[in-house]
Amino acid sequence: MKNSNAQIAQSLFEELYPICRSITGNGVRETLRILQEYAPWNIHEFSSGTQVFDWTIPEEWNIADAYVKDEKGNRVIDFRVSNIHVLNYSEPVQGKFSFFELREKLYTLPEFPEAIPYRTSYYNRDWGFCLTQNQYDMLDPYSDYEVCIDSTLEPGSLSLADMELLGNEGKKTYIISTYCCHPSLCNDNLSGPILTTLLYRAMKKMDLRHNYRFIVAPETIGIVTYMHANESFFKEVDGGFVITTTAGPGEFGAKMSFLNNADVDRVVRLSFSERNMKFREYAFAPDGSDERQYSSPAFRIPIATITKDKYYEYREYHTSKDNLDFVSGDNLSETLKLYISAIEKIEMNGVYKVLEGRGEIQLGKRGLYPTVSGHVKQFAHKNIESSLNIVGDIVYSNPIDAISWFLFYADGNTDLITVSEKSGVPVEQLYEVAKKMLHEKVVVQVES
Ligand code: ZN
Repeated sequence: MKNSNAQIAQSLFEELYPICRSITGNGVRETLRILQEYAPWNIHEFSSGTQVFDWTIPEEWNIADAYVKDEKGNRVIDFRVSNIHVLNYSEPVQGKFSFFELREKLYTLPEFPEAIPYRTSYYNRDWGFCLTQNQYDMLDPYSDYEVCIDSTLEPGSLSLADMELLGNEGKKTYIISTYCCHPSLCNDNLSGPILTTLLYRAMKKMDLRHNYRFIVAPETIGIVTYMHANESFFKEVDGGFVITTTAGPGEFGAKMSFLNNADVDRVVRLSFSERNMKFREYAFAPDGSDERQYSSPAFRIPIATITKDKYYEYREYHTSKDNLDFVSGDNLSETLKLYISAIEKIEMNGVYKVLEGRGEIQLGKRGLYPTVSGHVKQFAHKNIESSLNIVGDIVYSNPIDAISWFLFYADGNTDLITVSEKSGVPVEQLYEVAKKMLHEKVVVQVES
């Protein structure tokens, strides 16, 4: 188990969690630098004030400390305890405020009184503190409070990173994208850059046919910046995945692309169904994450997302309770298996044409009819109920069924993903059959 994906994920969670990130600043830079120790991310900087499509890169934000002190000098709200206590992107402030003045700058979650909410103010200059309702209730309305936010907002740059895996055919290009702008929050969003980094490492070991571009950037402004700098590249992208909220304790989910039946959608559904796994399917909506940019009218790239405790859907979302206790490296590595499975299906897909198309192929005379034990993988029972947290093995179909379905659709028009959807035979099993039939010169591959 040494250096398993689960262990690397767990140690990255622990290393990255304390860092105060935002859409710009040293927290993001430090995060990208740590990720570089695990995969060859190329870091790029874009200057404040740069116009990127309809947006402008804001001034860079950095913060050293922040607190609210009572009259005895106790830090009753303390950035050192949790960096989400500060309204993210707060301008600097120093001074004494009455409770009633301070109250206007405080954010709580009355319905979840022990959690600190996460709030930002990127594009309106403002300051504030986020605290638990329980902390708020302890404040004295008749006291004055000393407030300090030791932050800077100055011309600087926005940091993001990318890397690439080029396939040996390179006919199709996919993006695998995530964001890195949330401070000490685990499922949303540290689980995204960690899974994306581990997915790269897994895919680097594959013999890939297609091209893949990996991107980690601050959400929205970072991706808009990256697309602005790489506009012609994005005109050629066939599809992709936005990686977010992958490591919670709850149910698996998948958000589909605006097309709903793009190859990225179909391989995600098959990755669950081939394992008889339950998951919650979310139809496309123009909300969520950076699919909003990738799928916008000028680009229309279909994007799918596999989640484990999807953003918006869990109580701890965007609060201090989305912490190291909420996520685990084990959970993340289960979601990673599903992404790897989806990528493998994209890679295995292909269209085949049978050379003798009149009637059925006589398999017996070619030695292709499976014996009792089967030339293909052993047939497994289809009644396996996967538990919520474990991504089980693919449940193979009867080998004769697999051959029959493959040959029936070896018509030069139907790809393996479609055959799998129509037959219930896993793509992996159809691919094994295809390789055998190619070898025996029963079929030719007409398209990849
Ligand atoms: Zn978020």
